[in-house]
Amino acid sequence: MLVGVLALQGAFREHQRSLEKCGVSTCQVRKASELHSVDALVIPGGESTTMGKLMSEFELMKPILDLAHQGMPIFGTCAGLIMLAKQIRNSRQQTLGLMDIEVERNAYGRQVDSFETDLNIPVLGAEPLRAVFIRAPYITKVAEGVDVLAYCDDKIVCARQDRFLVAAFHPELTSDLRMHQYFISLIAAKTPA
Ligand code: GLN
Repeated sequence: MLVGVLALQGAFREHQRSLEKCGVSTCQVRKASELHSVDALVIPGGESTTMGKLMSEFELMKPILDLAHQGMPIFGTCAGLIMLAKQIRNSRQQTLGLMDIEVERNAYGRQVDSFETDLNIPVLGAEPLRAVFIRAPYITKVAEGVDVLAYCDDKIVCARQDRFLVAAFHPELTSDLRMHQYFISLIAAKTPA
């Protein structure tokens, strides 16, 4: 299994490290030709308007969309979550729009720009997951077909729609590998043996 990590900006190396600790091979993706051999893609945190512009400039939007429509699983964290959303509140920025979710950017306001908390994520087991939020978004609406995987207080911060997985926090910044392992299990379920 080879997992590509979009490497235009943001925390891509940390995702590679976490995935490799889970035993899968990774590669950095900056151009369309690098997408052909991957079984799945991670879109890391960063800054989503910049990432959207870079994705257009590097002509990655259409190739990623084509592969996603053909069944490629994608995991987006933080800015990556924003990139997967169909709707962004108060913004017309470019996204891939693959998930039927509405998102509020920088949703936690200035006073709590960044924080850590324990999240209960039942699909990962009973043990709570320590989650790092950095100028994080949250999900304000989900359509039918989207499974909510975790709340932080009453806000949706982790969700899945078939092969697309998003987290508002940064699982690549802690040593807990369960979010990455969960994504790998989704890829394995989609990839013929
Ligand atoms: N605030 C950023 C954005 O809106 C996301 C922050 C992150 O990825 N850590 O794009």
